[in-house]
Amino acid sequence: MKKQYAVIGLGRFGGSMVKALSDQGMEVLAIDIDEERVNEFSNIATHAVIADTTDESVLKSLGIRNFQHVVVAIGDNLQASILTTLILKEMGVEKITVKAQNDYHEKVLKKIGADKIIHPERDMGIRIAHQIVSSSVLDYLELSEEHSMVELKASEKMNGKNLIELDIRARFGCNVVAVRRGKEIYVSPQANQSIHQGDILIVIGRDKDINRLEKHMT
Ligand code: ATP
Ligand code: ATP
Ligand code: CA
Repeated sequence: MKKQYAVIGLGRFGGSMVKALSDQGMEVLAIDIDEERVNEFSNIATHAVIADTTDESVLKSLGIRNFQHVVVAIGDNLQASILTTLILKEMGVEKITVKAQNDYHEKVLKKIGADKIIHPERDMGIRIAHQIVSSSVLDYLELSEEHSMVELKASEKMNGKNLIELDIRARFGCNVVAVRRGKEIYVSPQANQSIHQGDILIVIGRDKDINRLEKHMT
């Protein structure tokens, strides 16, 4: 059986999710209290409905309990976000992902049992800051408080050297997990993989080790 998704709140975040889910061929129910927003999605989502999701009977009549994954992307209205999540949880929805507005909101969501809490604005802010600070960092993903994965542009210093010669693991404690060159990608590269200037190295390691690598090698 096809997985069914529901997205509540069709702002920029929720709206993009609905589009991306539909593009991937998923069944998606789009819900918003605002009629205009819902109309925008009537041709994109499998179903688009106007509903106030803080009303339990409304959620019941939509059969929301049968959806495998519900995303709550209500923004500024913390009360509506929290109440909606609480009702979904009490109805026994399998998986609930909620967009949090701030740390206090996150704490409440955790307490009421949201399965996954996301902070798109905060996390995107952090990612972009890393890209701005270092011209060699193309992308950045936090793995834990101390570890991350980054995309580093290979510098002139690395040009023509292979991974043995660069000795990145021993010198910096970081692992190159893939090398991208134009449209090619070499996953789990061999030690004799040579690097060209402009290649994209996908590196995993401790933040401080990645910083050292950036400083010395780019
Ligand atoms: P984004 O940053 O993703 O654009 P936002 O964080 O600014 O969004 P809002 O635009 O405040 O978030 O809220 C997202 C949507 O949630 C809005 O379209 C709003 O109408 C909808 N919404 C708010 N309260 C409810 C509710 N009780 N039931 C259903 N939808 C709701
Ligand atoms: P986010 O979704 O990232 O939380 P947002 O897209 O909802 O933010 P706003 O909250 O409307 O955006 O604006 C972000 C900040 O920009 C606010 O703190 C606001 O005070 C500030 N801001 C708005 N206009 C100006 C301006 N003309 N000059 C300086 N700051 C401004
Ligand atoms: Ca916002």
